[in-house]
Amino acid sequence: MEWDRQKGTEGIGPALAEPRERGERWTLAICAGAILLFVGLSFAVISGLLDHRFYGGEPVAQPLVTALLINAALVIFGWRRHRAVRVEMHGRSAAEERARLLASRDPLTGFLNRRSLSEAGAALLRSATKRDQAVALLIVDLDHFKMVNDMHGHAAGDSVLRSVALEIAGAMPPAALTARFGGDAFACAFVFDARDPSVVERIANRVITALSQPMFVDDLRIHLSCSIGIARSDFDGGGIDTLLRSADIAMYSAKKSGRGDFTWFDRAMEHALIDRNDIESGLRLAIPAGQVVPYFEPQVDLATGRLCGFEVLARWTHPTQGPIPPDRFIPVAEEAGLIGDLSLSIMRQAFAAARDWDPGITLSVNISPWQLRDAWLAQKIIKTTVECGFAPNRLEIEITESALFDNLPLAQSIVGSLKNQGVRLSLDDFGTGYSSLAHLRALPFDRIKIDKSFVLSLLDNADSAAIVHAIIGLGESLNLPITAEGVETDAIAERLAALGCAKAQGWAYSRPLTVADTRRMLAARGLLHSGGSADADTTDVTNRRRAG
Ligand code: C2E
Ligand code: CA
Ligand code: CA
Repeated sequence: MEWDRQKGTEGIGPALAEPRERGERWTLAICAGAILLFVGLSFAVISGLLDHRFYGGEPVAQPLVTALLINAALVIFGWRRHRAVRVEMHGRSAAEERARLLASRDPLTGFLNRRSLSEAGAALLRSATKRDQAVALLIVDLDHFKMVNDMHGHAAGDSVLRSVALEIAGAMPPAALTARFGGDAFACAFVFDARDPSVVERIANRVITALSQPMFVDDLRIHLSCSIGIARSDFDGGGIDTLLRSADIAMYSAKKSGRGDFTWFDRAMEHALIDRNDIESGLRLAIPAGQVVPYFEPQVDLATGRLCGFEVLARWTHPTQGPIPPDRFIPVAEEAGLIGDLSLSIMRQAFAAARDWDPGITLSVNISPWQLRDAWLAQKIIKTTVECGFAPNRLEIEITESALFDNLPLAQSIVGSLKNQGVRLSLDDFGTGYSSLAHLRALPFDRIKIDKSFVLSLLDNADSAAIVHAIIGLGESLNLPITAEGVETDAIAERLAALGCAKAQGWAYSRPLTVADTRRMLAARGLLHSGGSADADTTDVTNRRRAG
């Protein structure tokens, strides 16, 4: 819209101006001709009159007088027409100027818009380069601004944006360019001495501090924060558009590393972005093609050594980058809105694989916090279990504490529906986040999982040992069994068993296995339905592992 309007005024302006100028030139030429004619005729009439009066010459001819009168009328008419055209032209060029101004400005804040920042920024770059100086380009993006609009309405959102613009303008040096790109993204460009980039950081900090003060809008007290990406022309090169792109990449990096701060652009960020986009486009093809597959990591009862279930872990081999760990592709799937499909695809494959496994064997699947924003999640999971003939009471879902922050009532309702169907719930990675008792009580958990970072160092780090002790004690007092992950050695397994930990998983038992390897393992233990005996699930995987 904005772009069309700009283009419109630019395109029509010069085309209209030309005929108008031509019209004005014509009226002026006619006027001038008429005046010359008038002077000539007046001279003829006056000299005729004088000749008649004083020297008895012929009276002035009637047609000459008539011609003079017509000529006088023509001069008056021409002059008035010329003035009218001039007034009209003046009005039009003022309107054009106004339109041009509107087209180059953001109507809400009066800041430049993207296109005019590109133009003015290019000029700023040229003059800075001539004077051997550098241009800093800042992209300022408000954090969680959508919530302001959602909670207080768009009118309040607009008022906040106007106040933000004032704060940004106040924090900038006098000759800085300031622009808004629609939404809650602002850009600022200014010249600085390349030998002293701390000036730029001071200005970025001024913006961050100004925007972190509570803002009072329509009787509302609004708290904001912002993330800033900075690019500099002497390092990051290219024209203004390259600088804008670099600052944008840096801004996303600032958001990723916790928001509320600034980040300078560097080349590694660009490569990371290219890799990330590559992963995203790869996932878009791989998920529907069933190329993201489940692996199964055995979970063992520590007291009896019995195999009781598996944690389902996603695995993906990228066509050009090779195997990519889930810690890299899961966050991309989350950001790209693909995690729901990925998760259901993994579950479908895992449930289908487990169809003829011993019914005592459970599956634990990881559910991302993003999935708990989907009001239909419980229905989708139950539908998948029904379609695959997998009993919901064999399913456990693992969620982390961070899943409880976003929309707790929705998470509670999803978990409630799942638990009604017999699905169990574990709190994953306990100890790494807030580890709060309130969070443990917010949802009806059936189990706590201690994060592998503490388990791995249980025997050689006193802090880890203290945390593991505390979590096992907490589980006992809340009557919640504990699973320890990351059990790599027998010694750790023995210590955990002595402490009263219920289950364990880790490389001491097995690395995550493919569907085929899991089947082979289960077949060897008589845990496949077709060949399994009723008490075959008492197989001691610990002993088998020791045996080979
Ligand atoms: P997590 O849920 O904490 O999963 C346990 C991770 O610890 C797995 O890494 C597993 O391979 C690893 N692990 C298990 N035992 C040991 C051990 O003895 N030593 C060591 N060093 N590591 C061990 P993985 O498979 O790379 O998964 C990483 C994370 O990716 C998972 O952490 C989970 O948060 C996420 N993830 C994996 N699959 C899925 C999935 O299907 N959906 C979602 N939402 N997240 C998934
Ligand atoms: Ca997990
Ligand atoms: Ca974990």
